[in-house]
Amino acid sequence: NTIYDVIIIGAGPIGIACGIAAKNNNLSHLILEKGCLVNSLYNYPINMTFFSSSERLEIEEIPFVTTNPKPKRAEALEYYRRVHDKYRLNTRLFEEVLSCDKNEDIFDIHTSKGDYRARHVIVATGFYDIPMYLNIPGEELPKVRHYYDDPHYYAGQHVVVVGASNSSIDAALETYRKGAKVTLVIRGTDISPRVKYWVRPDILNRIAEGTIDVHYESCLKEIRADEVDIQTKDGLLTIPNDFVLALTGYRPNFELLQRFNIAIQEEFPMIPEHNPDTMETNVEGLYLAGVVCGGLNTHLWFIENSRIHAKMIMADILAKLRP
Ligand code: FAD
Repeated sequence: NTIYDVIIIGAGPIGIACGIAAKNNNLSHLILEKGCLVNSLYNYPINMTFFSSSERLEIEEIPFVTTNPKPKRAEALEYYRRVHDKYRLNTRLFEEVLSCDKNEDIFDIHTSKGDYRARHVIVATGFYDIPMYLNIPGEELPKVRHYYDDPHYYAGQHVVVVGASNSSIDAALETYRKGAKVTLVIRGTDISPRVKYWVRPDILNRIAEGTIDVHYESCLKEIRADEVDIQTKDGLLTIPNDFVLALTGYRPNFELLQRFNIAIQEEFPMIPEHNPDTMETNVEGLYLAGVVCGGLNTHLWFIENSRIHAKMIMADILAKLRP
């Protein structure tokens, strides 16, 4: 029964970076991924354009070549797959990690398909698996989506988009351009300042000319089969509706982290406990990498600034193995 030096949970960009870092340091590794390779990116909207330029998404300084100012989802899928294959990483896809228990100095990992053992474990599970729900009546209807994919589907339909960040604004503009009648419902008083700088004028102009409706300082109250209630600052408004795109963000799987015995800050933003210099959690030998580290603050870490976690973790593991 092999005992790996490192098991990495999650084959996102940062899990792949950790696999390469292990391989470069002659440590045996295994990456376990519950979906396809770079599963989160695969599930992004089909036309998604990154806010980062491609060199900021590179791992191990392997050039990410594109002729676009900012790369698109399909290019990123190709890039990470090619990098993954070049390094011949040892990855098992469509295998979900269910538990990770430390017994003496060894971690026992149980998955949907088998059992593995490792001296060190890196949790790089991201935050894209669990949506932030609205918790309102009607949210369970099949016409309500927390992930948005392809605009064509919404042609000719009354679509309510909830949220003011990049995902919502991209969805509002794309579906509007495929002939949807779009209404934006926004809790605050403005479009988020984080919206991509080249997209922001586009949405503001569509709102100004009245081709996309917007309700600021408003929230969705109830969803029914063919209409929705919006609580606006001027009172309750009912409008016809075919689909709701509730793109109100996502959160890490805290239950999974707790099952691994990782301590989690009680108050917002519920940061999972880790040493910022080594990324080691309160469980010795168990590390966090990538966007999962930010807890509910999902804007804290992204690919650009969390790529370095791989090298920080590997330095700590090497110091332990070869003091
Ligand atoms: P992820 O890519 O989310 O990888 C985590 C992996 O873990 C997933 O593949 C998941 O399937 C797997 N997993 C989860 N639980 C388990 C389990 N129990 N067992 C096995 N596998 C599991 N960042 C940028 O730097 N620039 C950008 O332009 C940018 N644009 C973005 C656009 C969108 C729409 C979103 C949502 C995010 C964007 N980000 C961007 C942020 C960044 O893309 C993501 O944060 C990035 O995917 C983080 O990488 P990661 O490896 O930490 O996590």
